[in-house]
Amino acid sequence: MKSLIEIPKTMKALNLHGVGDLRYEDVEVPELTEGTVLLKLKACGICSSDIPRIFTTGTYHFPTIPGHEFSGQIVAVGDGVDESLLGRRSCVFPMLPCKKCKACLKEEYAQCSGYSYFGSRQDGGMAEYLVVPTWNLVPFDDSIPYEIAALCEPAAVSLHAAKLGKIAEGDNVIVIGTGAIGLLIASFAKKMSGKNVAVAGRSENKLTYAAKLGFETIDTSKEDIAEGAKRIFGDGADVTIEAVGSNEAINNAVKATGALGRIVLVGNPYGDLSMEKNVYWSILRKQISITGSWNSSYNSRVNDWKEALEIFASGELDLNGLISEKYPMSEFEQAFADVRNKDKFTLRVMFVNK
Ligand SMILES: [Zn+2]
Ligand SMILES: [Zn+2]
Repeated sequence: MKSLIEIPKTMKALNLHGVGDLRYEDVEVPELTEGTVLLKLKACGICSSDIPRIFTTGTYHFPTIPGHEFSGQIVAVGDGVDESLLGRRSCVFPMLPCKKCKACLKEEYAQCSGYSYFGSRQDGGMAEYLVVPTWNLVPFDDSIPYEIAALCEPAAVSLHAAKLGKIAEGDNVIVIGTGAIGLLIASFAKKMSGKNVAVAGRSENKLTYAAKLGFETIDTSKEDIAEGAKRIFGDGADVTIEAVGSNEAINNAVKATGALGRIVLVGNPYGDLSMEKNVYWSILRKQISITGSWNSSYNSRVNDWKEALEIFASGELDLNGLISEKYPMSEFEQAFADVRNKDKFTLRVMFVNK
């Protein structure tokens, strides 16, 4: 083992002791083992999936440190680890797959049947340090700020979804959802189609922001998404990507998609879903292809993480606006209040460590 710093015994972390019981407290710094590195965490985003995890459903066991969207600096390496990693900046693929199941043998780790996960099944990124196997490291260049790199997880998820839409040049695309994922999907979709992309949602300030980024907008409080598609494209969409997970949004996705179109479902549902009979009929009649999208590809053939970081490094996406607030972990109550406040404009609220 080799270290750039004197590794402290304890660190500050946000530790979830029970549903709604998140504490900013001292915990032990996890121990370096063979094949792992110690990451000094610099930035960690609050994902919308963290909200039910912390406030309603809980994690798999308590206590757990949440956070799966993070970046940091490698400050120590365990035995058997390439020492040139010392000092490097890195993101982390948060999934720890079994590497034995059928999906893992195909390197489709997101579909692993027996995985662990940083920030839900085991401690994650809302802390000062984390021990990470080298397999999960996605190092990046010093030119990318840590906060921007902490957007790599939602960006990889978004890029994965956009790719599943098989967007061809000139395709008309609708993205339903104006959160960080929706806007990232729209950005990648625009790169793929080269044409304008419409973003649909009901939050006025998020739609205003989407318009500022150069997207067409459909305000669902005033207009049906299908009507919006007609107004903007003159027809149904070639590809619709649903990033909300509500009944209404999924039904609207089908209505707004044209004949032989494709729908990608990304939004996590908050309850049971049902479909109007006529909407179901139209899936058959329009022969729409529907695909689910889960997490991201991280393998020797396709690595959405590396691709997302390359796009970040190119500077072609305007990412700063996606980070709406930054807080030190000690101000976690305000940070989570911001995310949960429906009247406040937030895309990614992020914890930053010195
Ligand atoms: Zn996330
Ligand atoms: Zn597996």
